[in-house]
Amino acid sequence: MLSGDYYVCPGATDGALRRYRAFLQAPGRRPLYPQDAECSCRGCSLDDVRHARDVLEEVMQQLPTWPRAQLERQVRELDARYVERTLPDPFAAERQWRSDLWWRCRLSGGREGG
Ligand SMILES: [Zn+2]
Repeated sequence: MLSGDYYVCPGATDGALRRYRAFLQAPGRRPLYPQDAECSCRGCSLDDVRHARDVLEEVMQQLPTWPRAQLERQVRELDARYVERTLPDPFAAERQWRSDLWWRCRLSGGREGG
């Protein structure tokens, strides 16, 4: 379990997908930097795009095969863009929470969109 059932409901899936897509929609080719959410309540937690990705991962693990395949297809496309638009953090193991999750091993901080 990555984030607990509290965050996982149909609305949360949509919200997480929208948030992930919005993060990656920044124009141009400059690197993007995920940022910590200012607060951890349900309403604000998606401010951290990495949390949105956590939610999607958890939902994909819980969904039955067919809806999971549909969601996975969308998430994989966004993942590819995320890898292109963010930079690897060479010190992720020391300074990122849950560095076993690849989307949390990217450089973060600063203002979103650079
Ligand atoms: Zn809040």
